[in-house]
Amino acid sequence: MTARIREFLRNRREDGPCVVVDLDVVEDNYRTFARALPDTRVFYAVKANPAPEVLRLLTKLGSCFDTASVQEMEMVLAAGATADRMSFGNTIKKERDIARAFELGVRLYAVDCKAEVEKIARVAPGSKVFCRILCDGAGAEWPLSRKFGCVPEMAADVLEHAHRSGLEAYGVSFHVGSQQGNTEAWDQALASSAAIFRECAERGMILSMVNLGGGFPTKYLKAVPGVESYGESIFRALSKHFGNRLPETIIEPGRGMVGNAGIIETEVVLVSKKAEDDDVRWVYLDIGKFGGLAETMDESIRYPIRSDREGDDTSPCVLAGPTCDSADVMYEKVPYLLPVSIEIGDKLLIEGTGAYTTTYSAVAFNGFPPLKSYVI
Ligand SMILES: *Cc1c(COP(=O)(O)O)cnc(C)c1O
Repeated sequence: MTARIREFLRNRREDGPCVVVDLDVVEDNYRTFARALPDTRVFYAVKANPAPEVLRLLTKLGSCFDTASVQEMEMVLAAGATADRMSFGNTIKKERDIARAFELGVRLYAVDCKAEVEKIARVAPGSKVFCRILCDGAGAEWPLSRKFGCVPEMAADVLEHAHRSGLEAYGVSFHVGSQQGNTEAWDQALASSAAIFRECAERGMILSMVNLGGGFPTKYLKAVPGVESYGESIFRALSKHFGNRLPETIIEPGRGMVGNAGIIETEVVLVSKKAEDDDVRWVYLDIGKFGGLAETMDESIRYPIRSDREGDDTSPCVLAGPTCDSADVMYEKVPYLLPVSIEIGDKLLIEGTGAYTTTYSAVAFNGFPPLKSYVI
């Protein structure tokens, strides 16, 4: 909780949950990434928090942007960044969206199969493409599924297809899984990347770039290693697998850039028990899975929750949202410890909510409006 956020919330008169993002924290995070990975370009993953103020700040600081749709590209352009600072990092794109991106000036595209290469070759001729490879996501609290990427053994074929179609076979990308707690998680994927570089070289294609993806964690309940440790470990793995011919690298932090910059203020709507002799209380908030806390799905992300009653005795609670959907329960398998003294009407602060909250806030599900956002 920063002093600026405390001050903002003290003066706020509107009702309903909101997230408040402190730009000073985002700026600190950007500088920390730039210092920890000095020879790496930062492509901020826009989906983590596309607030115009965040995009303008990162533009000013010199960041590039990983975008997944034409709408995100337009947001980045509106923030003042030029198209040469953007990648179209989604491996699943409509051909007309690729054409539109090309028209806007975007020249860097992700692929993971030949069919996607063909779309790009048709409407974005001469562009650079990188091939995304699968990564098992072990050690990540929000692992990305098999949805994106091909097996490493297929990458050289995909890149060769790009090369033969008049595109520039530019490099390899992967994502080690979001909220990745293991600083060594990049090692295996970098070993695969180096093998793909060698295989492509044998086929006469000199690749240039490794996109190291996101995965850098933000602090929730558990402590996480600092960005510096990730930087060191990634540099060691790069040297180990590429020797002294280090490729150009980029990172795509999302959560690590904005997660700790935001705090959600929410109100306790109801505290109840299901039976008089239950030990566990149910605490219902005015925000839930559909109002921005989607990452509590499967109880994956456990946010720190603060109240004015800290120091009082605590007891286990099931924490649930306000909608009439029974899936709208955040923590039940592992109940959450909250002060026994908590009452209806109390304000709670949910920390680490600067990433993946506004973007996951369903539009007026059950009539509850989408999460209001203030960036100060
Ligand atoms: C979402 C996403 C990211 C950001 O991941 P974090 O774990 O939030 O850092 C980076 N790259 C791609 C391609 C993504 O889809």
